[in-house]
Amino acid sequence: MVEGEDAYHLLKVLRLKEGQHFIVSDKDCTDFICEAVDTREGSIKAKIVKSEHNRAEKAYTVHLLNAVLKGEKTDFVLQKAVEAGADKIGLFYSVRSEVKYDKAKAEKKQRRWEKIIYEAAKQCGRGRIPALTLYPTFKEMLASCADRGEDVIFAYEEARGDTLRTALEQSGDALCFIVGPVGGFDKEEVRMAKAAGAHVVTLGNRILRAETAGIFMLSCCVYEKEL
Ligand code: SAH
Repeated sequence: MVEGEDAYHLLKVLRLKEGQHFIVSDKDCTDFICEAVDTREGSIKAKIVKSEHNRAEKAYTVHLLNAVLKGEKTDFVLQKAVEAGADKIGLFYSVRSEVKYDKAKAEKKQRRWEKIIYEAAKQCGRGRIPALTLYPTFKEMLASCADRGEDVIFAYEEARGDTLRTALEQSGDALCFIVGPVGGFDKEEVRMAKAAGAHVVTLGNRILRAETAGIFMLSCCVYEKEL
């Protein structure tokens, strides 16, 4: 039985009719192909036709840590990051962040951001819903990296030498990308990231916007690993 917003989306937006198939995910990489049997009550009674392994999930994991950006720019990053395959997303405040939400606003934003992630995951057929964490400081965000054992790649426009490609070649299958705010990272933040073992890299000779850099890194990663 499918109810609530998902039923509304299937019936009113996608115009699902009785007898037609749709996919339900268990959010743990199994998809169920279902047939709508009864749609009369605004909900969907369905029968499972078959189950299969979700194809959108992959053999490596990638975690995007992006500075919180103003207004809809953060929404954009979340939506596109899910499409590009991010498995986890973290947002953090950095020294040069233009925004900082109080507790009530942050909770409201968190709900909105989780909804954006859920909708994006559904739309692009993901088998898992990426989790979202909001870190109060750069330091806490960096400390959390040490606990997870991921290979951390830190995008810094003033990095000379190592490129994203070099870092990807030297990394394993649990990756983490860190992207700064509109004003860029502070020198002390770069020093802390290096000290924590992050691979500081350039994304090329053009300066990308703060809302572009993470998606750009994820796209390069997909190209290297999947295409
Ligand atoms: N400090 C810059 C712009 C920061 S761009 C300025 O104001 O001129 C925002 C973020 O995107 C940076 O913190 C960095 O993480 C990432 N970024 C953008 N272009 C990049 C590049 N060419 N190489 C590496 N990182 C880049």
